Amino acid sequence: MLVSTSCQTTSPDSSAGSDTHFNYQLEQFADLRILRYQVPNFDQLNLRQKKLIYFLSQAALCGRDILWDQNGRYNLAIRQVLENIYTTYTGDMSSDSYKAFLTYLKQVWYWNGIYHHYSNDKILPGFSVGYFNELVYKSNPEGFPAFKGSTPEETLNTLIPVLFDPQYLNKKVNQKEGSDMVAESAVNFYRQVSQHEATEFYHQMKNPSDSSPPSYGLNSRLSAKSGVLEEQVWKSGGLYGPAIDQIVYWLQQAQTVAETSEQQAGIALLIRYYETGDLKTWDEYNIQWVADTAQVDFVNGFIETYSDPLGMKGSWESVVNFTDLKATRRTQIISQNAPWFEAHSPIDDRFKKQQVVGISAKVITVAMLGGDCYPYSPLGINLPNSDWIRKDYGSKSVSLENIAQAHAQANLQSGFLEEFSYDTNEYKLVKTFGPLTDNLHTDLHECLGHGSGQLIEGVSSEALKNYHAPLEEARADLFALYYLMDPKMIELGLLPNPDAAKAQYLSYIRNGLMTQLRRIEPGKNIEQAHMRNRQLIARWCYEKGQSENIIEKMQKEGKTYFRINDYEKLRQLFAILLAEIQRIKSEGDYTAGKTLVETYGVKVDPVLHTEVLKRFESIHMAAYSGFVNPEYQPIEKNGEIIDIQLHYAKDYASQMLQYSRKYSFLPIENN
Ligand code: ZN
Repeated sequence: MLVSTSCQTTSPDSSAGSDTHFNYQLEQFADLRILRYQVPNFDQLNLRQKKLIYFLSQAALCGRDILWDQNGRYNLAIRQVLENIYTTYTGDMSSDSYKAFLTYLKQVWYWNGIYHHYSNDKILPGFSVGYFNELVYKSNPEGFPAFKGSTPEETLNTLIPVLFDPQYLNKKVNQKEGSDMVAESAVNFYRQVSQHEATEFYHQMKNPSDSSPPSYGLNSRLSAKSGVLEEQVWKSGGLYGPAIDQIVYWLQQAQTVAETSEQQAGIALLIRYYETGDLKTWDEYNIQWVADTAQVDFVNGFIETYSDPLGMKGSWESVVNFTDLKATRRTQIISQNAPWFEAHSPIDDRFKKQQVVGISAKVITVAMLGGDCYPYSPLGINLPNSDWIRKDYGSKSVSLENIAQAHAQANLQSGFLEEFSYDTNEYKLVKTFGPLTDNLHTDLHECLGHGSGQLIEGVSSEALKNYHAPLEEARADLFALYYLMDPKMIELGLLPNPDAAKAQYLSYIRNGLMTQLRRIEPGKNIEQAHMRNRQLIARWCYEKGQSENIIEKMQKEGKTYFRINDYEKLRQLFAILLAEIQRIKSEGDYTAGKTLVETYGVKVDPVLHTEVLKRFESIHMAAYSGFVNPEYQPIEKNGEIIDIQLHYAKDYASQMLQYSRKYSFLPIENN
């Protein structure tokens, strides 16, 4: 499971701290912006750790083509066509059509193919087929790909409807009820297979009495091309073999500098899995990985199944990282004090847990993003996904601190905080304490909030149905908000002074009532669970506090602001709402839960919405942020690596072209 930007409570929209020396944002186009992230304390690692990161980073980049091909069968060919035009076109580059071509190419790079990662819709070019032909005509003819048995010209003709026809292969994942989700999804996990056939095929593999079942279907394409259903396994010598062999090569290098013998054994299992495609070996690897506590750590494999309409096939991804020891101490303090927090929670004693264990999460510094995590990165990751491994061996939950930091800093550089702060007081408060309290909020939410409280006997966890997710997120957020302003935070050394928590209250209310609306299209309601939860809390507190003017709606020069007049009373409102939502969950009170969500969390104030969209437009801030990776350069002496140097990339297109040059291992095929 991954925690998208949306599960991070406020950091995508709050902004703070200051780092004037590093330019976080490189560029912006369509609804996207490209940022860089820093890798603090890389220099403090020892040579062995640096080499390990370098080798694992190479392994992370070698799987790039796998993800592109998984995301759509024509993606690799399309990328080669577009890049050939980009690098060799000799015509006019000042026209609007050419600019539209550039934007399109960058979008395709960004989403690793022609489909938007969130809507799953095909991205349509902002230029005509006629103009496309002109681009092709004035580019190097030798640089275009050819499918086996076809000329480059025939290949281009095959690609034109894929690019331009709005009806053809138009959805990466089709989840519409009543449709054949497998046949109608363009994702490249199934070939000539119906949903019914695929479901039956995997149903027959399952043994209901197996308490440790492998993740069937995770690492293969299911095809009926030869007349019978068969799995084309992604492994050495199988489908994607040439890229997998490269990954294995770099994993073998990594094995020689592993930090611990457990880690070395883990890498050996991962290599064996890539060589054999055996899913039992994959499980053994994951059990080993959960137990591995070395500072340098990584994810590499077919992991998340969000892109498969049947939720079985893993998209390839990699994240290389090392533990941020200082920040991890923060989460350890919180976990160790879990019983105190539970005992002092402002909820009815009947709903409190008698025994409470905080989840120990670690905070990491990302060193390299690859596959499905690049360039669009999650902010938190919780793996492995296999239920029985989680139950019997546990899981690792990590927060990607430097990625969150880059989001916050880029927002600061964007002028976001100036635009939405009522006065310099607010501005300074959030600028100074925003990042710290954002992180602390996330830690309290993840390590304690979700795990607190209990159901009374006989209540099922499914009682709240479709309102479960927003209410559960609200409960965890309220737990965090309530405790942020508790003197205990200062006593434990987690906050420096009583003012710091105000920064979080301000950003939270502002985000819930206003700034998060920028992700909603005009005329639409709020659908996403985390967004519903945030508006629910902010609007409920705004309304309940109106008689005492706890949160005040202000107008200045035609712009709306929400000011907090009484922080202590706002904290009491958080306590009351937390107690009520805990009661709803503990008793399974569906009707009350539904009323809360529908009254406060769903509908959008259209006038305020229009204003928010306009204000974001005025500061030119895009809705989605992706990242270029840093680069690692080995320094050699007498054939030995004596150091690894870290460089920050300066240009998005150059990194993409460099990756295509160095890490294209898969053939362009149309089979
Ligand atoms: Zn959550």
